[in-house]
Amino acid sequence: MNPVYIALIAHDDKKDDMVDLVRRMKDHLTDRPLVATNTTGTLLERETGLTITRMLSGPMGGDLQIGALVATGQVAAMVFLRDPLTAHPHEPDIAALMKACDTHNVPLATNVATAEMILKHLPAAG
Ligand code: PGA
Repeated sequence: MNPVYIALIAHDDKKDDMVDLVRRMKDHLTDRPLVATNTTGTLLERETGLTITRMLSGPMGGDLQIGALVATGQVAAMVFLRDPLTAHPHEPDIAALMKACDTHNVPLATNVATAEMILKHLPAAG
C-alpha cells in the first residue's frame, strides 16, 4: 500500500517558521511518512534529522506533484506555510493544490497556529 503522507510546504519567507514548527512537533511527526517540496524538504532534513520524500521545488511543479498525491488519497494532512504578502509566479499551482485539499477533504493548515492544532490531532498512523 502507498504511504499516507503528511505534506509540508513553505514559501521562502516562511521556511524558518516551518523548521521551528517541525522541531516543536517532532514527536508527532516521527515515524510518519513526510513529503515536501524540494527546498523545504532539504532544509527540514538538514535541520530536524527527519527523513522526507522530496518532490520537485515549488516553482518547478512540486506543489502540483503533491496535489496529485492528495487527489489519489495519499495525503493525510498538509501544512502549507504561504507567504501571503508576496505574489508567486506559480500562484495558480498553489491555488490548485488548495483546491485539491478542499475537494478531497484533506486538513490543510496555512499558518503555524492551525498547523499545531492539526499535527497534535493526527489520526494514528498505519
Ligand atoms: P520549495 O517550494 O520548497 O521548493 O521552495 C515551495 C514553494 O515555493 O511552493
